[in-house]
Amino acid sequence: MSSDYTPFKHQVAGHEGSLSDASGTLFIKPSTDQEIQFYTHINEQERVLPLKEGEEVAGDDDDDDDDDDQYGMRLIDWMPTFMGTLQNGLSPDLPKTKEVQEQLNSLTIKPPTQQQELKDNKDTTSYLVLENLLHGFRKPCIVDIKLGSKLTDHTVSDEKRQRLAKVSASTTSGSLSYRVCGMKIYNSLGQAPIPESLTGAAGAVAGKNSISVDSEGYTVFDKYYGRTLTKDTVKDHFQLFFRANQLSQEQQDTVIRNTFTRLQMLYNCLLDKEVRIVSGSLLIVFEADSGRWNEMDNEDMILRDGYVIEGEDEEDSDEDEDNKIAPLSLLSLIDFAHSRVTPGKGPDENIIVGVENLMNLLEEFI
Ligand code: ADP
Ligand code: MN
Repeated sequence: MSSDYTPFKHQVAGHEGSLSDASGTLFIKPSTDQEIQFYTHINEQERVLPLKEGEEVAGDDDDDDDDDDQYGMRLIDWMPTFMGTLQNGLSPDLPKTKEVQEQLNSLTIKPPTQQQELKDNKDTTSYLVLENLLHGFRKPCIVDIKLGSKLTDHTVSDEKRQRLAKVSASTTSGSLSYRVCGMKIYNSLGQAPIPESLTGAAGAVAGKNSISVDSEGYTVFDKYYGRTLTKDTVKDHFQLFFRANQLSQEQQDTVIRNTFTRLQMLYNCLLDKEVRIVSGSLLIVFEADSGRWNEMDNEDMILRDGYVIEGEDEEDSDEDEDNKIAPLSLLSLIDFAHSRVTPGKGPDENIIVGVENLMNLLEEFI
């Protein structure tokens, strides 16, 4: 294995510096202790070793039904699989799978930018190694939606709190508890038909060209675009996201319906969790390559195949990973840089309202 890390290709928002590996299975982001702690904690809590065959929990005579009830009720069902961490220049700790361990053991992360190279000697950047959610997609269409109207917690400076309160008050973060942070959509004609209600607002941002077309035929929308959306234009936005592509109406309907179902499941999951996810996002992805829809017989899965993790049937794990099939669409929570586990504090209303409002919007499409 080579130390062949490249800049991550399809990042639609956030800080620069994310990387992918040669195989494209990993998403590696410069991270913070808080985010690594959150991933570690949730994984320790929820990655329960499966029962061995024939073994039963005392008094539990219908554990099949029980499994169904639990479908999508773990937070990790809605998070990228946590593979481990990397310290710049050091070998990794916490690798979870044999394959990843092999890959990472032979690697030394290279600094992603010049700037980082300069402070290389004492660089202690920690990298979070996650499953690349886009792996297996040919033409992923992607939107990053930041959840919540409250965008900061108590740890930030007054200046930042005031600045982000202003952003919230002047965008759909304030009115709907969610805001589009970035998006890219694929249209093989290289030009998505963008409704005037959307271009008008985005065009009004002084000096910023918020919408651009790249060389691969993606139309890319930056964070300033999302800030210009309003309660009234956000529906046009989602129309654009789900419909401006070459898929059939039925295929588009499948994406919308499954996204709605996932939002419902996530909503129920979040009601059951005592966490505070401040400034976290939903990542919604779907396949715009109709060839892959045909290969999959138009069958999408609601929850994607997770990585096989330590403790699950070891003998099959290599094979399962090779055969891991990407879904045709997915929804995931991402960005836990400001997330905490808060036992006894009840559910995270701030983001739940956003999920609910998104559900209500998508219902209008169904
Ligand atoms: P930041 O803390 O810089 O905001 P995020 O975790 O929000 O970082 O990630 C930034 C962007 O990277 C997201 O908008 C998304 O496009 C992409 N991204 C994040 N996590 C993954 C992942 N596991 N797989 C694929 N893409 C991801
Ligand atoms: Mn982010």
